[in-house]
Amino acid sequence: MGKAALIVADMLNDFLDPQGSLYMGPQAREIIPFVAAKIAAFRTQGVVIYACDAHAPDDPEFQYFPPHAVKGSWGSQIIPELAAAPGDYRVDKTRYSAFARTNLDDILKAEQVIVVHVVGVCTSICILETVKELFDRDIPGVVFRQGVADFDPEAHAFALKQMARLFGTKVV
Ligand SMILES: [Zn+2]
Repeated sequence: MGKAALIVADMLNDFLDPQGSLYMGPQAREIIPFVAAKIAAFRTQGVVIYACDAHAPDDPEFQYFPPHAVKGSWGSQIIPELAAAPGDYRVDKTRYSAFARTNLDDILKAEQVIVVHVVGVCTSICILETVKELFDRDIPGVVFRQGVADFDPEAHAFALKQMARLFGTKVV
C-alpha cells in the first residue's frame, strides 16, 4: 500500500526568524504550531521530507531576491521549533520547486508515496511550483491553508486558487 508524504518547504531561519535576511513576517510564524503538529503526525504514519533552499553565495536567484539560505549558513538551517528527527528526509534545493535538481523523485518512488501533502513557505512561489510538479507527475497534492504563508496576502490567495483550479490540488 502506498504512503502519504509531507513536504515541509523552506521553514528556515532566513524566512521565519525576524533576524533572517528574507523574513516573511508574523503571518509566517503563525503557521509554526500547525506545521509542527503535521510533522509529528506524519512521523508516525507517513514520510516527512524537508525541502530547503541551500544556495551558493552567488546563486543567480539572488538577482530576484536578497541573498538568503546560503548553504551552511545559520539562515539555511531549519528553525529550531521544527528540527528534523532521525528518519526524516531533507532535500537541498537551489530553485523554487522541491523537485528541481533534487532527488525528491527517487525518495517518493523508494517510499512508494501516492499522495503528497505540502506545508511551508511561501505559498505563491515554492509551494505553487512544487504542487505544479506534483500535477506533472500525476501525484495528488494536498495543501493546508493553515500550513502555508506568503509575504504577500494577495499572492497567497491567488496561488491557493491557482493550485485548486489548474493543478487539482486539494486545498483544505
Ligand atoms: Zn531561494
